[in-house]
Amino acid sequence: MEQKRGKLLVIGLGPGAAEQITERARRAIGESEVIIGYNTYVDLIRNLLTTQEIVGSGMTEEVSRAQEAVRQAYLGRTVAVISSGDAGVYGMAGLIYEVLMEKSWNPLEGVQVEVIPGISSINSCAALLGAPIMHDACTISLSDHLTPWDTIAKRVEAAASADFVIALYNPKSGRRTRQIAEAQRILLRHRSADTPVGLVTSAYRDRQRVVLATLADMLEHEIGMLTTAIVGNSSTVVYNGLMITPRGYQRKYALDSDEQTLKPGERLKAEAEPWSLGAKE
Ligand code: SAH
Repeated sequence: MEQKRGKLLVIGLGPGAAEQITERARRAIGESEVIIGYNTYVDLIRNLLTTQEIVGSGMTEEVSRAQEAVRQAYLGRTVAVISSGDAGVYGMAGLIYEVLMEKSWNPLEGVQVEVIPGISSINSCAALLGAPIMHDACTISLSDHLTPWDTIAKRVEAAASADFVIALYNPKSGRRTRQIAEAQRILLRHRSADTPVGLVTSAYRDRQRVVLATLADMLEHEIGMLTTAIVGNSSTVVYNGLMITPRGYQRKYALDSDEQTLKPGERLKAEAEPWSLGAKE
């Protein structure tokens, strides 16, 4: 008898609250026979589980969990691998594919894989802060467990000098405390001391905390394993406790009037956008 093709459902659960889990993620959990994930994340979806077998929740090692997930899928089972946020952002998706590549996996004949997107911390934390990532932004993980610190420092430097809004993931843990201080030092070389920094801890979970700090005083606030720090760019402002990064509309539009000086047909002309590439020709 031909064996059933196994399936890996790599699921991002979003920040934590049940209503922030996508419909597809919810259905995928329902379709699965086996759930693999870290205890904390299994707890987040406990009320969605029916007959699923929970495997490896005690495994703290991501590699063992990914290998176990692949092993179960090769047995023909439908396996849900769960990550917080988005599984493709410092989550399990890449590792699952890496383990499969090691086995010379063929997507056409081997186990099926579906990566199901979730709301990543950069998005959930930004929403709680206001609108800080309205303009070009990037994510940088400060964890140097797998990435050389020199590479991380170079990326912080590049993002800081290019005026990106920066979401810092994994800013600090019990043992890793120097990285955030070093990142702050690099950032201060390029951005003013009063640059807004939003510190969001446990977004959409029971102990949610949202703090508005500045680049200068950010380390005086509590930062932990469940904190994402969003560093504003040179235009980011704070208004009534909200962190807002202007997109640039004010360059062209009057935001306090119903009357616009530029009529619709004039707005895309080079004269109306002297800062554009087109105006340089
Ligand atoms: N895949 C996850 C990131 C995992 S890395 C995602 O897409 O969001 C772990 C880091 O994510 C933490 O150190 C923290 O910076 C961030 N994080 C995860 N959940 C969070 C939450 N509920 N609130 C704030 N930050 C969170």
